[in-house]
Amino acid sequence: MHDFLFKKGELYCEDVPIRAIAQKVGTPFYVYSHHTIVDHFTKIQKAFAQIDPIICFAMKSNSNLAVLKTLVDLGAGFDIVSVGELKKALLVKADPKKIVFASVGKTEEEIATAMKAGILFFNVESLPELAEINRIAKRLRKKPKVAIRVNPDVSAVTHEKITTGTLRKKFGIDLKTTRGIFKNRRKYPNLEFSGLHIHIGSQIVTKEPFINAIQKLIEFIERLRHDGTQLEYLDIGGGLGIIYKDEKPQTAQDFANAVLPYLEKAGLKVVLEPGRFIVGNAGIFVTRVLYLKDNGLKKFLIVDGGMNDLIRPALYDAYHEIVPVKETKALRKKMDVVGPICESGDFFAHDRELPVLKKGDLLAIMSAGAYGYVMSSNYNIRGRVPEIFVKGNQFEISKPRESFKDLIRGERIPTFLN
Ligand SMILES: *Cc1c(COP(=O)(O)O)cnc(C)c1O
Repeated sequence: MHDFLFKKGELYCEDVPIRAIAQKVGTPFYVYSHHTIVDHFTKIQKAFAQIDPIICFAMKSNSNLAVLKTLVDLGAGFDIVSVGELKKALLVKADPKKIVFASVGKTEEEIATAMKAGILFFNVESLPELAEINRIAKRLRKKPKVAIRVNPDVSAVTHEKITTGTLRKKFGIDLKTTRGIFKNRRKYPNLEFSGLHIHIGSQIVTKEPFINAIQKLIEFIERLRHDGTQLEYLDIGGGLGIIYKDEKPQTAQDFANAVLPYLEKAGLKVVLEPGRFIVGNAGIFVTRVLYLKDNGLKKFLIVDGGMNDLIRPALYDAYHEIVPVKETKALRKKMDVVGPICESGDFFAHDRELPVLKKGDLLAIMSAGAYGYVMSSNYNIRGRVPEIFVKGNQFEISKPRESFKDLIRGERIPTFLN
């Protein structure tokens, strides 16, 4: 479900015509729907209601303040991966007791800041990190909770660059080492070992990889119990897939039905970390046609948005639906949709059948709410585009377009060159 639908031949976000936003802010831009975010969050909440999990939105997928505020108001916590994300979470008044911190490379400063903020727990990804958190806890006279991010060594059927749960990847700690950590917990007197964490990958559309990983985890928890270790939390990560093209992903309810029996058996407080599932289809990227180029062999629809604005096609070969904002009966032809960046990887689609549009026409790149704006860059000295937030018939600029001044803020020529 999402709220980007055609009414009287033109694309709307909820009750706002995309055309009206383009008129006000220019192109390109991202636009997010409040209602879609609420709907997706509520679907997970309802599906898991019987175990009342802590739902920590994976902020790396979309950290726009309007999105975060919407989620905080629904009772969400956050899964963070940096001190920047922690500060944004606190800015929207997130409850620190609903914040979990994962990352293979947490710095001393990040660990200390999160500890002082009183987050729920650290998801620890290596032995040296465990020692580092213990050392900082001693210095700060704290006893933070930690969960071990285990690498269950299961493969998730998804793109190579978004698989995380096998031992060929940098994430998590293998089960044998983890068992050793719990046995030798006295080596870390300033830590409270309170949970286990897994996150096996992203855009996973079937339940089997989750079931495999959780089954392994439950058996492992039994072994830990046998060793005399009692845990409090089981954090099963994110990774739920969405529809980009013709996927038939499990619904939140299918997912819950599949994993709830295992989670109930474990009897621990469950943490979920959905990202893409909540925001993926809650945002689109809107761009404008600049030129139609035909080199005899191929046609190229050249638009004003580029890979610096939305890198998923270039980075993951990701498919995004592309639709003209105004319905048209124009002849359809196969073409590449490309941006202005000086890279062959700068494309949104290859050989896509689209109507032959004209200069100035608007195109919507769908399902761009997750890993879209957050991965954008200033490559080719292009300012980041604005993020627009829609609720009902209202829209506002949540984050403005970057100006040239923003782009060179603080940059200067060294005195010795003058
Ligand atoms: C990226 C990430 C998530 C969110 O993944 P989605 O596929 O967007 O749901 C959750 N947990 C961790 C640890 C992550 O790195």
